[in-house]
Amino acid sequence: MANVSHELKTPATSLKLLAESLEESLGEDPEQSRIFAAQLRRETERLATLINDLLDLTRLESERREVLTEIVDVRGILVTTLAGMRRVARERGVALNWKRFGRAADFAVRGNETQLASMFTNLIDNAVKYTPGGGSVEVTGGLSRDGREVFVSVSDTGIGIPEESLSRIFERFYRVDRARSKETGGTGLGLSIVRHIVENHGGRVVVESVPDRGSNFTVHLPRSSV
Ligand code: ADP
Repeated sequence: MANVSHELKTPATSLKLLAESLEESLGEDPEQSRIFAAQLRRETERLATLINDLLDLTRLESERREVLTEIVDVRGILVTTLAGMRRVARERGVALNWKRFGRAADFAVRGNETQLASMFTNLIDNAVKYTPGGGSVEVTGGLSRDGREVFVSVSDTGIGIPEESLSRIFERFYRVDRARSKETGGTGLGLSIVRHIVENHGGRVVVESVPDRGSNFTVHLPRSSV
């Protein structure tokens, strides 16, 4: 609760300041008013994203045991997720590559399609967000050697994560660089959501990273026996 309140306090303070500034500039300086109004909108959007992420996390915690009902095709979910991310990647000048793997039928897992899509979206969104223009993100996958697990890996050629932060990035609100995360609209909750979803599905997520070279997040999920 203390963490959440703290995280909500910052945008709330900005909103108040921006609203006051707008009140003062209205009628006096239309150009400046427009700038304040645009900032007000961006801050409001950030606050809404934060609240949505918090609600997602809360829901994930309460639905823990209810997710493993459908048999879903991980490859199909990835294809749809990637299609949705293409525009953002293009806008940022980051190449988004999909390295085709296996047959869809081999990538069946027991789980919840919406949650898995949200998990992949978070990972790919981060990879694109933390990769400077001109870099690339590659998504691929496969089966473990014993055939019991499906894995999907998201690699980027981005800014990387310092070793001392690797064990902390899945914590709520943890960001390596707060300013940068804020600038890109981050809430610090994306990877906690990822970890929750993966664990709800009986899987695990592993990260490897070299600062200034890039990061690789690999999700392992138990394969459905059906
Ligand atoms: P945020 O909303 O800040 O992106 P996340 O929970 O998704 O929050 O990630 C936590 C932190 O981990 C980020 O602030 C960033 O510092 C780091 N991070 C996550 N993914 C990557 C990546 N692909 N490359 C570099 N840093 C990353």
